Amino acid sequence: MVRSLPGFERAVIQRYAYAVEYDSLDPTELTRGLQSRFLPGLFSAGQVNGTSGYEEAAAQGVLAGLNAARFALGLPEVHLPRESGYIGVLVDDLVGRGTDEPYRMMTSRVELRLLCRADNADERLTPLAVAWGLRPREDLERVEAKYRRVAAELRRLQALRVEGVSGLQWLRRPENTYRALMERFPPPEPLSPEEAYQVEVRAKYAGYIERQERLREKMRDLEAFRIPEGMDFPKVPGLSREAAEKLSRHRPKSLAEAARIPGVRDSDLTALAVHLRRGA
Ligand SMILES: Cc1cc2nc3c(=O)[nH]c(=O)nc-3n(C[C@H](O)[C@H](O)[C@H](O)COP(=O)(O)OP(=O)(O)OC[C@H]3O[C@@H](n4cnc5c(N)ncnc54)[C@H](O)[C@@H]3O)c2cc1C
Repeated sequence: MVRSLPGFERAVIQRYAYAVEYDSLDPTELTRGLQSRFLPGLFSAGQVNGTSGYEEAAAQGVLAGLNAARFALGLPEVHLPRESGYIGVLVDDLVGRGTDEPYRMMTSRVELRLLCRADNADERLTPLAVAWGLRPREDLERVEAKYRRVAAELRRLQALRVEGVSGLQWLRRPENTYRALMERFPPPEPLSPEEAYQVEVRAKYAGYIERQERLREKMRDLEAFRIPEGMDFPKVPGLSREAAEKLSRHRPKSLAEAARIPGVRDSDLTALAVHLRRGA
């Protein structure tokens, strides 16, 4: 390959630069708080857990570090639910399924990616940060007040009539902006730029957001379907052989976890749900 480059026809490789090889732990042996199941008090984060990337390592470091500190203080472990954001998905994937190759976080891995946006991270994560003592209580009050103002403004726009439609419907037209609407029909109290942005996003993308909220409900329902520990998957009627094999290997604890295993289809989930309802 090197010699195929113009000017490199007679190149000689004296020594290869580097090879990246390292051992890693099996992340399925970790708790969702990134603690070893076999060596309580040992927490790990980053490449050693099978990931690649700066953000992947840093994200786990926050959670593992938090839990290590809590362990030292005698406090219970805390977890980030999958639906809370990217760190939740990363940990759930790693611990729930393991990885055969360096794991990279990608948008496509996050089922609820339209709900897990950078702009609403404060809404999703501040309650947890405050509950875990990472942020002061005033932060939560500030965030709650912000979203109360956003909700009030959305209600006002719903009631407003603009060119024969509601303010919300008017805003959904691609050519219209909240700034233009605000200038014509100012709110009783001016919104901060971040609040105005939230109003615009929630109005313009309401259809997509609602679809994802329905998906979130479906995921919660599937989560509530617990799969018993010693389930004999090949004996479940109607389950494809591939699904039975994959399920036996990964041993999911809920239908939601089963749904995330590649090769497990909707028809397999239905078969499993029917079987579980019969009291398997
Ligand atoms: C050439 C290259 C390019 C990359 N480019 C990118 C990129 O562009 N973007 C990206 O996101 N990621 C990139 N990565 C991946 C990224 O660098 C790693 O995934 C990430 O840095 C891993 O962080 P970490 O904290 O888990 O591990 P590390 O950064 O490897 O940290 C582990 C640390 O532990 C120390 N250590 C090891 N053993 C011991 C011991 N026994 N006692 C004490 N200390 C010990 C090591 O010295 C090291 O400092 C690249 C990696 C390489 C090799």
